[in-house]
Amino acid sequence: MGEIRKDYFTDRLVLIKHSEAFEIEKSLKECPYCPGHETMTLPAEFVLVQREGTLIKLADTEEEIIKDWCVRVFPEKFPTVSLDTAITYSDDPLYREPAYGYHYVVVATPRHDEFLSRMSLDQWVNVLSAVQDRARWLYSQKNVSYVSIFANHGKEAGALVDHPHLQIVTLPRLPPIIEQEASKVQKSINELGICPMCNILRIESGGPRQILATNYFISFCPWAPLYAFEYWIFPKKHQTSILRITQKEIKDLALILRSTLGGLANILNEPSYSMVFHISSEKKTAKQIHWHIEIYPRLKKLSGFEIGTNAYINQFSPEHTAELLGSASRKELAKLVGIS
Ligand SMILES: [Zn+2]
Ligand SMILES: [Zn+2]
Ligand SMILES: [Zn+2]
Repeated sequence: MGEIRKDYFTDRLVLIKHSEAFEIEKSLKECPYCPGHETMTLPAEFVLVQREGTLIKLADTEEEIIKDWCVRVFPEKFPTVSLDTAITYSDDPLYREPAYGYHYVVVATPRHDEFLSRMSLDQWVNVLSAVQDRARWLYSQKNVSYVSIFANHGKEAGALVDHPHLQIVTLPRLPPIIEQEASKVQKSINELGICPMCNILRIESGGPRQILATNYFISFCPWAPLYAFEYWIFPKKHQTSILRITQKEIKDLALILRSTLGGLANILNEPSYSMVFHISSEKKTAKQIHWHIEIYPRLKKLSGFEIGTNAYINQFSPEHTAELLGSASRKELAKLVGIS
């Protein structure tokens, strides 16, 4: 299976899969993530089931495939990383290491036609609880330095299956963006005694780029967004990972996520987007970050200028998109909590 290669000069990583041919896109007639099609995927290692009013954790066994799940987590059939990798290491400038890791699919709802932006708050709580549980388990496994949690929604975001789902991919090293964020945080804490992300929250809180704030979280469009309508969600208080948030905070996170995704969907008519969680590594030696979620709407393809220069063009100012997202998200929030 695959390997991770690093660029000659920069920290850019590429996962090389060594496929013989282009992997055939999943042109399946039936959705493999729908209830009743459980045998089309690998067996679920974790499912959440509502039974007699309580939520219980189960897993498929050889004798029984769980049918009445509300969240279902199983290994991806065509993984980006795998436990079965050739042991190939080499040093700079031709740096490589095995693409060792776990790749899971988290099916967010049994309902095929549901959107993440329309899902109920209760179901979002179930999904976030499942993600937290699986991330905790993955960090206890060997050779897991980082757990990447993300979702792709819509064709422009590269989603091959329409059914709402998230993915979890582990890496044997920190991805460059987390490495960069963690170095900045560490440097600022050492030199100034403050987390730079906490400082940014002070600047953005109540300012022209704020979208919405709930009890524990705040969302805003960043100062220099790569994507039009890009926005971030941060815990208001310094916190290093979703692994350490309480059930109360999960409920609040569900509220801000659902309100802002609903707002985005209302303005742009359910656009394609990617959603990425940036969390701290749980390795004892790793530097920590102030965890957050970044949402990247995919309204246009990147141009040659952007890919070739790493400088991006955004048609809209974040101040303008924050105003639109703010009013649309506040309306969603009011509907969700029953204020008209
Ligand atoms: Zn489906
Ligand atoms: Zn902080
Ligand atoms: Zn980030």
